Amino acid sequence: MINNNLKICKCGYKINDPHIVAKTNYSSWGWFLFTILGMSAKPISIDFICTVCGDKLESSTDQETLKRFIGR
Ligand SMILES: [Zn+2]
Repeated sequence: MINNNLKICKCGYKINDPHIVAKTNYSSWGWFLFTILGMSAKPISIDFICTVCGDKLESSTDQETLKRFIGR
């Protein structure tokens, strides 16, 4: 679960705001599966970043959250 009340960036956006994007990070093996073999690899972590100010609101390694971003 993402705690939506947790953090606000410099410009006042929260994680569910459209200005906040989720950037997925893959391990080199996950990247290989995903890019070379076209398999859906699960990211190892997800950063929630504001596209306006560049603040990183949160870095999530929560398994349930990661599952929602498989293949992104
Ligand atoms: Zn911001």
